[in-house]
Formats: sequence, C-alpha cells, structure tokens
Amino acid sequence: MGKASKDKRDIYYRKAKEEGWRARSAFKLLQIDEEFNIFDGVKRVVDLCAAPGSWSQVLSRKLYVPAKLSPESRDGDLPLIVAIDLQPMAPIEGVIQVQGDITNARTAEVVIRHFDGCKADLVVCDGAPDVTGLHDMDEFVQSQLILAALTIVTHVLRVGGNFIAKIFRGKDTSLLYCQLKIFFEQVTFAKPKSSRNSSIEAFVVCEKYSPPEGFDEKDLYHLLEKVGTPSGTSDDSGSEMNYCYYTKDCRSGWLEGANKVYIPFLACGDLSGYDSDRSYPLPSMQGGSHSYQSLDPVQPPIAPPYKKALEMKKAASTSTQ
Ligand code: SAM
Repeated sequence: MGKASKDKRDIYYRKAKEEGWRARSAFKLLQIDEEFNIFDGVKRVVDLCAAPGSWSQVLSRKLYVPAKLSPESRDGDLPLIVAIDLQPMAPIEGVIQVQGDITNARTAEVVIRHFDGCKADLVVCDGAPDVTGLHDMDEFVQSQLILAALTIVTHVLRVGGNFIAKIFRGKDTSLLYCQLKIFFEQVTFAKPKSSRNSSIEAFVVCEKYSPPEGFDEKDLYHLLEKVGTPSGTSDDSGSEMNYCYYTKDCRSGWLEGANKVYIPFLACGDLSGYDSDRSYPLPSMQGGSHSYQSLDPVQPPIAPPYKKALEMKKAASTSTQ
C-alpha cells in the first residue's frame, strides 16, 4: 500500500503528519482529554509505554511548553514528564526518557526515583504487546501490562490523581473494572473517535485515586486476586489483611448472573468529527488534480523491533546471490 493510499484510508494518520505528531495515537489522548479534562492542574506525569512518543508530545505541548513560555515560569516549577518504553525514543522537549520494561521492578524503581518524594498527578499507559492475533493471549499479555502500570500507579500517583490505560476489550473486562474500582472513585471505559471500531482497543479512565485504608503496595496482587472470588471464600493465605475488596459496584465478588457488572462505556471526541473507519478523499483529489504529496512520518522509530529481522533478511538474500 502506498503512502498516499494510506493517507486517504486513514485520516488520523494523515492529520498526525500534518500536525507534527509522531503517531496517530496522539488524537486518542487528545479526545480523551476533551471528554475528561485530564490535564487540569497537572504538574507531574508518567507516560508508560511511550514510544515513538506521540502521547509524550501531547504532554509536552499541553503542559511543559505553555508553562515554559509563561512569563511567571521558573525552572524548578516546570512540569515533570517521565516517559518509559522498551524502545528508545527521539528526544521531546521537557520529557525525561527511561528505556526499560515496565513489568520489571527495576524500571518501576527508576520511575519512582524520578519523583523522589513527590507524587504524580497523572499516569498514562498506551502499552501494547506485539499482537499475535490469538485474542485470549493478546488480552492476557495486555492485562499484564495494565497490572504492571497499576503497580507503578500505587507507588507514584497522588491521592486524587488520575490513571488512563489502553485495554483490549474481552471477557475479563468486568473483572478489570472491579479491580480498578478498588483504587479509584470513578472508572470509565472510553472509545475515542480516532480508535477504529474494528479494533478491540479501548481506554480505561480511572479518576480520583483513593486506595483502601491501610493499603500496602506489597499486597497489590493479593488484593486484586480477591476480586471475583465468591463471597464467603476465606482468605487461606494466612495474611492478616483486612481489606474490604468488594467495591460499591462489585459487591458480591461474583461478576456474573444477578451480580453482573455494567461498565460505564463512553464514546469520546467530537462525534461529528473524522471517523477512523472511513476513507476520505485526499485534498488535491477534491479539486480534480493529482498533485497530492504525501508527507513523511514525523519521526520514524530509531530502533524498531523489526530492524533486526530486516537486516537478517537482507543478509540472507545477499548470501544466496
Ligand atoms: N503512546 C505511544 C505513542 O503515542 O507514540 C504509542 C505506544 S505503542 C502503541 C505501544 C508501546 O508499548 C510500544 O512502543 C512498545 O515498545 C511498548 N511496550 C510494550 N510492552 C512494554 C513493556 N513491557 N515495557 C515498556 N514498554 C512496552
């Protein structure tokens, strides 16, 4: 498929290049913000799974750049944005980059150290594994990324702060909703207009972090496991934890039958705006001319995972010549 045909088929891909975003995902975060005002009063933020960096660009343009240009700005007062990914990322103004695996405790420690004593107002995570096409498997790996993100959240997010993460909708969505409701006052699943209907992706918007009283970060996984456990099942771990793990909406722990959980689900972004599932004519085609010039991507990945595969393929084809 040529660049121009992709520009025609995917309006957000084209707009991203026109507006200088590294990826079309930027629009997803912007549309979530239109609905939830996630940047209001935010000074410190963590961007998990950030490469190639379009969400970090949004954070930089919305938070860092305006603060820096403000006549009252002082260096120590500028927003702190920390971005993490397995892949390296080209620099972005005002964004501190950490290369690492968010499921690894050491990466989490590095992030936490950047916040040295202070807490973040917002944590975002657009993490996605390399999709296999096996839906259950993809959903499982995705859920592990969310759990890793939640671990970081419990260490760095201030009470009252917000957390946004990509999810793959599937049979465990209700369970995830109930698990997140333990920690947040409001949990909503959102589908931005720029996210294709054909994609199982959605975003969970968790507002107002409020962990259970006496919550100890070490007990996170144990606490999450208890959600969905039948009411009355004893805790056989010998732990002395005494959390109320039934949230208001998930009272009995069972998520099916009479106790089925209904999850708030919201479409967001200007609903009369561009539809990511439609093809749009290219600007020059509307006028009848064929002079349309497709733009190059704003920032190609610096070390994409497929680079080695391409090199191996090239080496194999030269050796057979
Ligand atoms: N939000 C990014 C943007 O706007 O440019 C796009 C993120 S992309 C959809 C998903 C990213 O998740 C990839 O860059 C991938 O390297 C990262 N990722 C997947 N698993 C990860 C892990 N365990 N730790 C850190 N990053 C991970």
